[in-house]
Amino acid sequence: METTVQENQKQYQEKKDRLAKGLQSLQQSDHHKIRLEKNTSNLFRPKTRGSKDKALNVKDFNSVISVDKENLSAEVEGMTTYEQLVNETLKYSCLPTVVPELKTITVGGALSGCGIESSSFRYGLVHETIQDLDILLSNGSVVNCNPSNEHRELFYAFPNTFGTLGYALKVTVKLIPAKPFVKLTHLHFTDPKSFFSSIESLCLEGSQNYIEGVIFDQNDMVITIGEFVDEAPWVSNYRYREIYYRSLQKRETDYLTTLDYIWRWDPDWFWCSDVFFMQNPLMRMLFGKWMLGSEQYGKIMHFLNRHPQLRSTLDNLYGKQESIIQDTSIPVHQSEKFYEFFREDIGIKPIWICPTKAYSKNKHYDFCPMDPSTLYLDFGFWKSIPTSHEEGYYNRMIEKMTTHLGGFKSLYSSSYYTEEEFWSLYNHQKYEQIKNQYDPQHRLRGLYEKCTTKG
Ligand SMILES: Cc1cc2nc3c(=O)[nH]c(=O)nc-3n(C[C@H](O)[C@H](O)[C@H](O)COP(=O)(O)OP(=O)(O)OC[C@H]3O[C@@H](n4cnc5c(N)ncnc54)[C@H](O)[C@@H]3O)c2cc1C
Repeated sequence: METTVQENQKQYQEKKDRLAKGLQSLQQSDHHKIRLEKNTSNLFRPKTRGSKDKALNVKDFNSVISVDKENLSAEVEGMTTYEQLVNETLKYSCLPTVVPELKTITVGGALSGCGIESSSFRYGLVHETIQDLDILLSNGSVVNCNPSNEHRELFYAFPNTFGTLGYALKVTVKLIPAKPFVKLTHLHFTDPKSFFSSIESLCLEGSQNYIEGVIFDQNDMVITIGEFVDEAPWVSNYRYREIYYRSLQKRETDYLTTLDYIWRWDPDWFWCSDVFFMQNPLMRMLFGKWMLGSEQYGKIMHFLNRHPQLRSTLDNLYGKQESIIQDTSIPVHQSEKFYEFFREDIGIKPIWICPTKAYSKNKHYDFCPMDPSTLYLDFGFWKSIPTSHEEGYYNRMIEKMTTHLGGFKSLYSSSYYTEEEFWSLYNHQKYEQIKNQYDPQHRLRGLYEKCTTKG
């Protein structure tokens, strides 16, 4: 075992040196922007890259270097997917503290994009579960940063900057002990007030392993509590014929293997597999084994994004649509107001509700605008709706309401903020300071440019 870890560390060192050298040699002859080249992506906004951007091939930074069961931590290369990491940690009966819901999300992507999960009400967003980082800077050097070394400013600035300060090559992730099964209790609600107040009191009480909710309609809402258990009287399977989100409306109690709990949303991309007709029993039976999974759906979406003419043919078929793919976190005491607005003006159903709270009250992550004393509810909604308005009309409404209610939204999909609005939400002065320090030649794109469709 020791030798495997040493071998993994040696391989990481070699890959790191090779990548750094390649980037350094590029420096002298080239002034184009740099971008990542990797196998998967869960980014749902138009790419801001220019055709002459230099692609940095980081595909082979995808190994779990070590798992330390005693100290509950794992050393992982930055492009390792959570699927790989979970498979490895479960061998030691452990799990990453927060596992984003889709198998192809990578550790580096989740850290730089504020990943979230149903354990976030206890442990915060993904970045709060990271203890140490190796970051590749645009000049080809690699810095190690953690909360107590000379690069701690970069450590706290890195989350939510989407690779605009550097790229995470190696990450130390905090783990929790896990049991073989998860018992699910689905609590059913018929009015928003009791739904939101119950989720708040459950989270504040804080003894459960996992809590999340789904709003199917204003009189059909479910809170799901997950608890690790050693034994299960039965286990359900939602990887093929059965559909997980539909089970929430039918059941009061359920059991899943821990692995199936972690990936419960993956086969049907929450409920978005509907777009590909994969909730039709015949389609499921014929193509399910091949099609069900976020990796396949992601590939199709990226193909469509790369072929705008195909997209516009589909638009013509379905009429003018606005794509609304957003996750927005709202302080719990404003959630009812947000839901009222959303139901009347946007109307997408179902909505994923994922509670989150900062793990530590004393740590300040510069570009994650969370009040550490507030419980937030992430509202996740992903669908296209018919529109007769200009592009971004409904997304703008959501952004404005989120700001008005003291919330913040994830930047993984389209944003329509003006530059002034954007920097009133994120600390511009701090960003400029840290950008000039760690990427003085601006070889990586800037945060506003990268995260908005206007860039
Ligand atoms: C339909 C959908 C559902 C989602 N559901 C969830 C969910 O349930 N939970 C959740 O947490 N998130 C969710 N997300 C958001 C997702 O976590 C973020 O988009 C995340 O950044 C994707 O990570 P990735 O590894 O796929 O990276 P990519 O999509 O490849 O990249 C995302 C961004 O991060 C940067 N980046 C990637 N790797 C690194 C690195 N090593 N170092 C620095 N920067 C890097 C890239 O440059 C890019 O700007 C969802 C997104 C979509 C589209």
